[in-house]
Amino acid sequence: MASEDKQIHVMFLPYMAPGHMMPMVDIGRLFAMSGLKVTIILTATNARRFQSTIDRTFNSGHQISLEIIHFPSAEVGLPEGCENITSAETQEMTMKLFHGVDILQAEITRLFRERRPSCIVSDSLFPWTTDVAKELGIPRLAFNGSGFFSVCIADSLNRYEPHKSITSETEPFVVPGFPDQVMLTRSQLPDIVKTTTGFSEMFDKIREAEMKSFGFLINSFYELEPAYVDYLRNVVGMQAWHVGPVSLLNGDTDDKADRGDKASVSRHACLNWLGGKDPSSVLYICFGSLVRFTKTQITEIASALEESGHLFIWVVGKVLKTDGNDQEDQGEELWLPVGFEERIKESGQGLIIRGWAPQVLILEHPAMGSFMTHCGWNSLLEGVTAGVPMITWPIFAEQFYNEKLVTQVQKFGVSVGNEVWKIWATQESPLINRDGISRAIKAVMGNSDEAVEKRKRARRLGELAKNAIHEGASSYNDLKSLIEAIRSYKS
Ligand code: UDP
Repeated sequence: MASEDKQIHVMFLPYMAPGHMMPMVDIGRLFAMSGLKVTIILTATNARRFQSTIDRTFNSGHQISLEIIHFPSAEVGLPEGCENITSAETQEMTMKLFHGVDILQAEITRLFRERRPSCIVSDSLFPWTTDVAKELGIPRLAFNGSGFFSVCIADSLNRYEPHKSITSETEPFVVPGFPDQVMLTRSQLPDIVKTTTGFSEMFDKIREAEMKSFGFLINSFYELEPAYVDYLRNVVGMQAWHVGPVSLLNGDTDDKADRGDKASVSRHACLNWLGGKDPSSVLYICFGSLVRFTKTQITEIASALEESGHLFIWVVGKVLKTDGNDQEDQGEELWLPVGFEERIKESGQGLIIRGWAPQVLILEHPAMGSFMTHCGWNSLLEGVTAGVPMITWPIFAEQFYNEKLVTQVQKFGVSVGNEVWKIWATQESPLINRDGISRAIKAVMGNSDEAVEKRKRARRLGELAKNAIHEGASSYNDLKSLIEAIRSYKS
């Protein structure tokens, strides 16, 4: 296949958030390894996170490069280097970042016109790339960073609006037209589903552009959500290709150790700590790249972990800055209760990572017992691939939808009990106390029938995930048919 594909040139345009850039860079590498020429457009600071892995892929003989563009930080009033949604700490900074991203449209359009690729893989958050692709007579593939299941929920809610005939925020309703019984509450739905604002109108445009695209490119695999792959293709009527789990591409330990950013802990420190621990004995806690908790919530997590007696690795994130009246929260960024870290270190119960963790490296270690996650799609899929059961703690975006795939459809996890959707960096989620957290830890880490059953289901999915990318298996075949579809595309 390789030599015939040399002429196909695919340009990738990821949004400036780790959860979007990381899988798109992996998919770019996957395309390059399949013989295509690949260019990934990134701004300078974001590019630094991926340069070494791109260089390694290039040096192994694949046609892949970064097209680095300048982010107009100064122009929009952001500090130099603030080019990523993770570094926008307030609503005001986030709005400025969005503005900076808008400014880039002209330059990126010029780039596409100049390079004339055979295909654009665009983040869904850039709806205007549909028009550029149309002008150039090439296919646009939409990448929205999530899986089939959540796209199908969004479609069903949009089509049937079940939440509109419910008055209570907490009364569960069934997602209409679904192959499985999936229950949600209004309180779990994103604001854009419930209210019409400038923001929701922007998302209407994004959806419209997705529907006008050549198809969806999705980081998932058939066996994880078969009914929803079929639903998207047959009921929604969209072409869609699944090519994941793409994190599996990071076989090289260097790629794994620094995937997405420079890790705050060395590979050796992680592996040394994990070494010798019993299989399935360690709980891993990480809430992705954006979630922030209050000091009170962090204290409850710390207490539950300590009281559980289980071994753990906790990736401590930034403290939520509330509206400014709580001076305490404005202090240290990566805060922990006084004395906690010292006690944990001394007892050997846990490893604390402040900042960026080598997540895939950790998750795939045989000592991993379960994963407490915010249900960001990448984390969810990486946990599935590792074959570990989950404690689900969704906060924002489509995370409550993803949670239902884990707890109600594939049933390999338990919910910690958060019921209310909030914006990650500025709104405070309801407090989940230590008892609620402890209950969830027991349900997946213990030896009850429930825990054993969940472990079994998770392990089975892990095997299916790892198999999906092998020659002849589901994601491998979809990648092949996608390349064929790009090659034979007629505008
Ligand atoms: N991640 C990581 N180290 C960290 C935090 C996050 O490698 O310390 C990675 C994680 O493996 C995943 C991505 O960042 O691939 C986060 O994406 P996800 O969709 O899970 O959540 P988001 O950050 O978008 O909320």
